[in-house]
Amino acid sequence: MEKSKGQGMLEYFDKFKTDLDCLEYSANPKWKDGFLCVKCEHTKFTIRKANLARDCNRCHHIESPTANTLFHKVEIGVRKAFMIVFEMSATTKSMSSRQMAKRVNVSRSTTWLFMHKVRSAMKSSECYPITATVIVDEFVFGGKEDLKPGRSTNTKKKKVVAAVEIDKKGGVKRAHFKSIKDYSSTSLEKIFDAHISTTAKVETDQWTGHEPLMGLYDITQTKSNKGATFFEMNTITHHVKSWLRSTFSWMHEGHIEKYLDEYSYRLNRSNSKETIFDNLINRRIESKPLTYEQISISS
Ligand SMILES: [Zn+2]
Repeated sequence: MEKSKGQGMLEYFDKFKTDLDCLEYSANPKWKDGFLCVKCEHTKFTIRKANLARDCNRCHHIESPTANTLFHKVEIGVRKAFMIVFEMSATTKSMSSRQMAKRVNVSRSTTWLFMHKVRSAMKSSECYPITATVIVDEFVFGGKEDLKPGRSTNTKKKKVVAAVEIDKKGGVKRAHFKSIKDYSSTSLEKIFDAHISTTAKVETDQWTGHEPLMGLYDITQTKSNKGATFFEMNTITHHVKSWLRSTFSWMHEGHIEKYLDEYSYRLNRSNSKETIFDNLINRRIESKPLTYEQISISS
């Protein structure tokens, strides 16, 4: 089966009509170099027709095409799970779990859980820190007004620190976000640790919370964040807030970073729409299952 080319809905529905279509799509890249039994390294196998699993001819270990992927033993069935991943990755804005549940005809709680599993897979590896020009700024989300009122300590608002990498033409290359509890340098350092190299050229406004980081990072403070320097940052901030506001009616404070991971994943790969879906389909993930309780408690 040919690789998916991204956004086309019709092409998508033609390609993935059944669970077996999805399993075949997972099996192709997994065993593209041939089969090797993970238990005994034997190379001969039999394919089980019901689920395209490979049954090792020597030790009879059975391996599913979806083992160690988002789709392993997924209770909503692999076809519906594929569809959710398609909507979240290859379309422009994704949707809420309520809308998605209706679309795939699955309960909202099950859909919500699977969508969070997808967001976990979308989370940045944090292995490629920004080395070029990056603007760091904070914003608040939620509450009645979300104009930036300096560094308000209003607890109803969710506080976020953003790092926006600027390309050579002055446009946005990548953006990353971290949820923070306050504007102290310890909190702001989260985004530096995860996404910014000590060799990057960092621009911030004149908030004192950045000052302790100046010994380690190359930080230039600009008098006002209203100027042209921060235009790209302000545009991203505006987009991400309007996406959050229009897509999700309510979110727990502990979950905002997961939604921001989803936003970053799409934004940072918007030039590679053709592979964005395949990346998630084939992404190896931790095999331990994620439960509703784990997500709820950890937040
Ligand atoms: Zn074997």
